[in-house]
This record gives sequence, structure tokens and C-alpha cells, in this order.
Amino acid sequence: MMAQQRSSSFLKAVETLLHWTSKNISDTESESDEGSGSHTKDQEVLYRHLVDHAGVGIATTDIRGRFTFVNEALCNMIGYSREELLGQPFPIFLHPDDRKDILKIFWNAWKYPMRKPRIEFRILHKEGHYLHFYSCPTLTLHKGEIIRFNAIILDISKRREVEEALKESEEKYRILYEYAGDAVFTCDCYSNIIDMNKIACEHVGLQKEDLTGTSIVECGIIYPADKKKFRAIIQQLIEGNPTIKDNIRFKLKDGMYAIEEVTGTAVYKEGMVVAITFICRNVTHQEQLMMALRESIEFSSSLLNNAPNPILVINPDTSIRYVNPALESLTGYAFGRVVGTTPPFPWWTGDPQVTMKYLKEALDEGTSRLEKLYRKKNGDNFWVEVTAVPVHSAGELKYTIISWVDITDRKEMEDKIQTYTRDLENLVEKRTQEVMESERKYSHLIEYANDAIFIADRHGNIKDVNKKSSEFTGYSREELLSKRLIDFIPTSEIEINRKMFSQVEKGNSIENFETTIIREDGTTMTILLNMIMSEYSGEIVIQGIARDITQRKMLEKERESYINALEMLNYKLAEADKLKTQFLATMSHELRTPLNSIIGFTDIILAGMSGPISQEVKEQLEIVSSSSKHLLNLINDILDLSRIESGKLEILPTAFTLEEVLEEVIRIHSPMAKEKSLTLTCTIQENLPPITNDKTRIKQIIMNLVNNAIKYTHEGSVTLRGDLSRNNHLVLVSVTDTGIGIGKEDVKDIFQAFKQLDSSSTRRYEGAGLGLYLSKKLVDILGGDIRVESVQGKGSVFTVSFPVTYSG
Ligand code: ADP
Repeated sequence: MMAQQRSSSFLKAVETLLHWTSKNISDTESESDEGSGSHTKDQEVLYRHLVDHAGVGIATTDIRGRFTFVNEALCNMIGYSREELLGQPFPIFLHPDDRKDILKIFWNAWKYPMRKPRIEFRILHKEGHYLHFYSCPTLTLHKGEIIRFNAIILDISKRREVEEALKESEEKYRILYEYAGDAVFTCDCYSNIIDMNKIACEHVGLQKEDLTGTSIVECGIIYPADKKKFRAIIQQLIEGNPTIKDNIRFKLKDGMYAIEEVTGTAVYKEGMVVAITFICRNVTHQEQLMMALRESIEFSSSLLNNAPNPILVINPDTSIRYVNPALESLTGYAFGRVVGTTPPFPWWTGDPQVTMKYLKEALDEGTSRLEKLYRKKNGDNFWVEVTAVPVHSAGELKYTIISWVDITDRKEMEDKIQTYTRDLENLVEKRTQEVMESERKYSHLIEYANDAIFIADRHGNIKDVNKKSSEFTGYSREELLSKRLIDFIPTSEIEINRKMFSQVEKGNSIENFETTIIREDGTTMTILLNMIMSEYSGEIVIQGIARDITQRKMLEKERESYINALEMLNYKLAEADKLKTQFLATMSHELRTPLNSIIGFTDIILAGMSGPISQEVKEQLEIVSSSSKHLLNLINDILDLSRIESGKLEILPTAFTLEEVLEEVIRIHSPMAKEKSLTLTCTIQENLPPITNDKTRIKQIIMNLVNNAIKYTHEGSVTLRGDLSRNNHLVLVSVTDTGIGIGKEDVKDIFQAFKQLDSSSTRRYEGAGLGLYLSKKLVDILGGDIRVESVQGKGSVFTVSFPVTYSG
């Protein structure tokens, strides 16, 4: 840049000099032509001297181009002497390629004298190489005619070389620019794109023409969110930051965004930023790799930081390179306290030399599940399982990763288990002793038990027996051990026994199964068998117990025969009872018919219907009538009883009121009471409901009670009372007398048949002892009850109850 500037300013100076020189020469010539004297000559010498040593080549030619003057500098430049040059046409010294152009310029200069052409041309050095020259030829006019061409010639070979070199270099840079591996954008200071290389075009999928003149920020190739950052880069470059590097996302031709590392460089001209170059390198892959690496590092460190078990990284020199937070949690030693330290480490216990040996081995070869007891900062001990994994790179140990698993709980548990196991063993031993002791006791019991106890395998082969088994069967223990259970069973019972054994084999227990066995002497024994499948000395066996029930069986048989005999007797008794009832029924009928005739005819005679009778006959007939009526009552009672006992008594419910029944009873018994000077009264509860029951039977019962009351009362009263039970279901009729009463011990018996309290031959009261028995039977059939309360010597209260409505 500086060289170029220098060269251009120099050319300007020479041009000025040339004008000046040319002007003076022409002036001189004109003055010379006018013969101006020695002053002119001196001036000419001066000029010539100046021209010769001007440092630039100066030459003049006539209008035909032949050298008329050459200065020394020119001679030196092109290697020819002044003599060799003067008179020679200058084109012969030109490069053949330049001759045509130069002649054309000369022609134009001649034609248009006011123009000042600037030309560059090559002259052949005498030594054969071409030199580059620059000239701005002028012409000298005399009286309007061209008389000479003047040229100040500058050797620009060096500049040309530089220019060539520059050009070549520029070419190279251009190639580099175009074909560089990175996309390059050149923008003006307003961020408008003025150039972009091929890679950039390919990159964004657009032509240079599409983007030239558009803002690099706004033309759609920058990721919208990154535009602000990109503008900031431009701003900083404009403000004087020569180079800025940052990552910007570019939209690629496939529509995807790629992360580009953008290097922005400001281009200065005369201290001002005239352009900005952005070199963009796709670093997406790198970024992805970096991201993956960062993630991987984050992942690893997160793993380490969050690992529940302590992890240590040990350098080959045994110093600690890294510990994770879990180590501090377990030991209480912080990261800063342990990282970089060398053994012995603070958690070591026991002989450090021994632990050091382990550590060395672990670093070299690795370890697996090595159990170590370490100590925490607070002095507590803990157990860890140590696993070491050496990590090699290029055959060299880089570090060793050691991980601990806290097994303190497990160790404690193991200790506890050991203690428990010991305790358990002691317990088992104790129990075994107890069991043996108990077995001894039981085997004694079994041996001397009253039942035969045996063990057989599942096929029925006898394996063990007690003493009683030999007694039962008549075989010795040894003989029994060679027999099967089935061998003792008589043929008639084999089938049922087989079924029983198969039941046991299926796991069912057999309880109290009665069977017969044949003894050694051929006699039989009835046994009660219990069998169960169980485990004995690790084997499945049948355990059995047999009881001799021969005696019991005999007793049972005897009892059975007694029962049979008794049943037979009962049957016969029932038959006899039936016959008795039948007989009584028949007899009653047979007795009642003639008895009714006797009563009927006696009453006719007594009524005088068959003629007058004497007082004596009358009295005797009255006895006949009374006795017959008594006999009839008795027979009626017997008939009723036999009906009841044979189940033939019929109940005939009808609707009636208690008043009508009690009134009738009073009416019938009034004479009798009157005769004995007894007061006979009756009280009935008001509003008693009508009764639906067997009126005749109810009246019969009440009549019997009133009859007894009058019979066994000598003074005082007989009182009847009719009431309804609290639940309104029963009618209660009580007969109260002030008679002889009944003794406590007799009360329970008075409802039995033929029971008379005074049964002596000298008894004072008539009766067969059937009335209360019959009443009780009747009231039972009616669904009621009869009770008595009595105090001897004071009187009795008989109360009968029956349902208001008979329900069968
Ligand atoms: P009997 O026909 O002998 O009266 P019952 O069966 O009617 O037969 O009575 C049985 C016995 O109960 C009577 O012999 C009597 O001793 C006693 N007895 C019954 N009723 C009364 C009573 N009201 N007072 C005292 N004793 C009575």
C-alpha cells in the first residue's frame, strides 16, 4: 500500500518535471533559433547537465521517432551508449507487443497535440531482458508544427515486479477467498453484502447476485434470535474492535440452522472502516460434540455427586484425586480435607502397613468385595465392601476408581444372626434333650399302655409294636415285626379292613373302627382300632392303637338281650293294658245298661208310680237308688278314663258362657251343701267373653271339684270364682273350701289314679280316687291345667284353667 502510494506520488513529480523540461527545451530552442547569445548557451549546458543527471530517462525524437537526444540516465537504464541510440528509431527498442500501441499513441499525440497521453511500455535492455517504463510524452511545436517528441521515461520495472507480485498474490488471495473451506462474506460498514465467496453461496444456497447489496443481518440467512448479537458484532467492529469472534446460527440451504463460528474483521482505509469481512465456520458438529461432552461430563459428575455410595479416585502415586459427596456423608471428612492427600488416610483402622499393601494391590490389579472396617471422623466404626477398578490408557495406569458399599448394617445383622443362630442351636439342643426325655417318658407309657400300639409302613408291614401288642396277639415282638396288619384279620372282614387301610393311606384318620383279629392260638379278639398317617423318623407311616373290647362286646350283647326282653315285656304290658281298657269299656257298658234300669225303676217305685210303698221299703229303695247312682258315676268315670287312655275321647267344642256352667253347678250342688249347712257361693268376673270349648267336660271337671269341696268340708263354705287370665286366653275357675285340707306330702299324689289320702278300711269318705285323676286328664286334653293349694285342717283351693277357645 505504502509502495503504491509512493510510486504514484513520484510519477506525479516526474510528470511535472517533464512538463517543465519540455517547456524549457522548446523555449530554449525557440530562443536559440532567434540567436539569443552566450547566456542561452550557458543555460543549455545547465539544462543538459540537469537532464543528464535528472535520475530519470529523458529522450527526444524527431517526428519520425529517431532519437535526437538521450540523457545519460536513460543510457544507463537500457544499457546502450548515447551513440548507439542517437539516430535510431525508438520503436526498434520496444517490445514487439507494445510497438503498435505506442505508435498509435504517438500518432494520436501528433493528431491531438493538446492531449497528454500516459504510456507504459517495455524496452529491450541491451542484455536481452525487457524493462518496464512509464512515460508521458510531450511534443515541441515550432510555428505550429511539431518538430520534436520529448519523453521523460521512468523505469517502472521494479514497480511492475511488485505489481506483478501483488497481482499474483491477489490472485492467490482471491483463490483462497473463493475456495477457502470457510464461508466468507464481505460487507460495507452498513452491513450490506458486497462480496461473498463460493462456499458462502453454497452454504446459504443463494447466488452472490441475490444477496449483494442486502443487509447480511436482514437478508434471512441469520437465525432471528441471533440477529441482535450479529448487529452487536458489527457495531463493535465499526467502533474500532479489529476482530471479533462469536457463534451465530445461520440458515442453511436445506432450511436447517447451523452454528457458525463467525470471525468478523474490520477493513480500514485511511483510518476509517470501509468494509467488514466475516469468515464463518460451521461448528455445529463441534458444538454438538462439545455439548455431548459437556452433557457427558455433567452426567458423570451428577452420577458421582448423587451416587449413594462413596467413590474415590486414586492416582497411581496413591494420592486422592477425587472423592464424591457420599464419602463426606459417610465418614464426615470433607472433599477439601481429603483430595490431594496421601496414605495413611484418616479412616484407616488397624495396621496402616497392611492397609497400604491392600491399597497397592487394589491400584494395580483391582479388588472386588473386599470387606474393610474403617473409622468415621466422629470415631464410629463402619464396615465397607471395597471394589477397586484400575483405569488404564495407552497401557499406563491413569487412576483407580474405588467404590465403597456401606455394609455396617449387614455386618451387624450378620452378628445378630450369628448370635441368634447360637441361641437357636442352644435352644434346639435343649429342646432335643427335652424331646428325648419326653420320648423316654412316652416310650415308657407306650410300652406299658393298656392298648396295643403299633407302627406300620404305608403298605401295612409292621415296624414297631409295644408290649401289649404281643399280649393281644400272642406273638413275640420279633414275630410281629415280620408280619403285616392284614395277616391278623379273618377272611370275612378282610375286604372292609382293606378299605380302611386305603383310607388311611389317603391321609384320612380312622377312628373307633371295630374289627376282629385272629390270635396266635386261633382264638379271636374284638378290637377298636384308631389309625392315622404320620411322619416317623422322616418316613410316612401308619400309627395305630387297638383296644381289646371283647369284654365290652360281651356286656353289650348281654345288655342288648336284656333290652330285647324288656321291650318284649313292655309290648306285652301294653297289650294287656289295651285289653284292660277294652275290657273296662265293655264292662262299663255292660254295667251301665242294667244300672240305668235299676235307677230308673227304683225312682219310679219311689215316686209311687207303681203303687204305694211302705216307709221301710222307701228307705231301702232310696239306698238302692243312691248306691246305683254312685256306681253309675264310677262306671262313667272308668269309661271316660278308658276312652282317654285308648285315645278315643272326643272333644266337642260349643259356644257357651261361664255363668251358665257355674249356675248349673251351684244349682245341682245346693241341696248337698244345704244338707251339710255349708255356704255355697259363686263370683264371676264381669264381662267374661263367651267360651268355645267342650262345655260338658268343663262342667264335669268343675262339678267334681265342687263335689269334693262339699264332701271334705264339714263347716264353713265352698266358694266358686270365675276369672279371665291376664293374657285373656284362659278361663280360671277356683273352688275354695274351708274343709279338712291336704297334707304337704300328699299334694303331689292327689292327681294320680285311685289315689285316696284316707285309704284305710275305716275311711270316712266315699269315692274311688278317680275324680281328680280324670279331671287332670280331661283338662290336659282341653289344653288347660289344674293346681291345688291347701293347708291341712284349714281348707283347699283347687284352680282349673282352660282355653277360652279350644284349639285342638
Ligand atoms: P275321691 O273319689 O276319693 O274323692 P278324688 O280323686 O276326687 O277321689 O280325690 C282323691 C283324694 O283327694 C280324696 O280321696 C281326698 O283324700 C283328697 N281330696 C280331694 N279333694 C279334697 C278336698 N277338697 N279337701 C280335702 N281332700 C280332698
